[in-house]
Amino acid sequence: MFNLILFGPPGSGKGTQSDKLIEQYGLKHLSTGNLLREEIAHQTKLGLEAKHYMDQGQLVPDEVVIGMIRSALQANPNAKGFLFDGFPRTVAQAEALDKLLAELNEEISIVLALEVSEDELVQRLLNRGKTSGRSDDTDTGVIRARLVEYENKTSPVAGHYQKFGKVKRVKGEGSIDDIFGSLTREIEGKLSA
Ligand code: AMP
Repeated sequence: MFNLILFGPPGSGKGTQSDKLIEQYGLKHLSTGNLLREEIAHQTKLGLEAKHYMDQGQLVPDEVVIGMIRSALQANPNAKGFLFDGFPRTVAQAEALDKLLAELNEEISIVLALEVSEDELVQRLLNRGKTSGRSDDTDTGVIRARLVEYENKTSPVAGHYQKFGKVKRVKGEGSIDDIFGSLTREIEGKLSA
């Protein structure tokens, strides 16, 4: 299996690049943000609980998202590999993911970390908010809260995987195709190593 984490702050292009990467490499896309929005759309108990955090730009509790990922891994035993998008977002989530994969005799192959300046992130999120229908993309206060959560709780996840030499940093500014080219170069390098 080839298991990839596409890492980066909100607005760094993870969703856009994920769509292209899963097509190119035949990976199963696991986006906890998308899974949570589906739960909200179906008005499940989990969705209603998660919405409360998401509306404020805060992270949903670890056990909720870890449970969703556990189910998704179990539901896709024949996948060629997984692309994790927006997960793990805390070191506890990363440790839980490593453990779940180890139970399958698998591991994270590579962590691709998109780097984008904060001003650019805010602009992109506000722009996306005009069409995404996502209330967490229209309010500058909520956007700032999400960036603070990223800085405090999510950025240490890169340090966790750096300990294992798995992190490759990629410039996330420029054209979508150029960024995709940089990501695929790193993947090809890993696949041929
Ligand atoms: P995203 O679509 O990845 O930007 O996620 C939107 C929102 O969903 C985030 O601001 C969080 O409130 C929540 N969320 C998504 N993934 C996670 C995660 N792995 N851990 C905690 N909260 C998450």
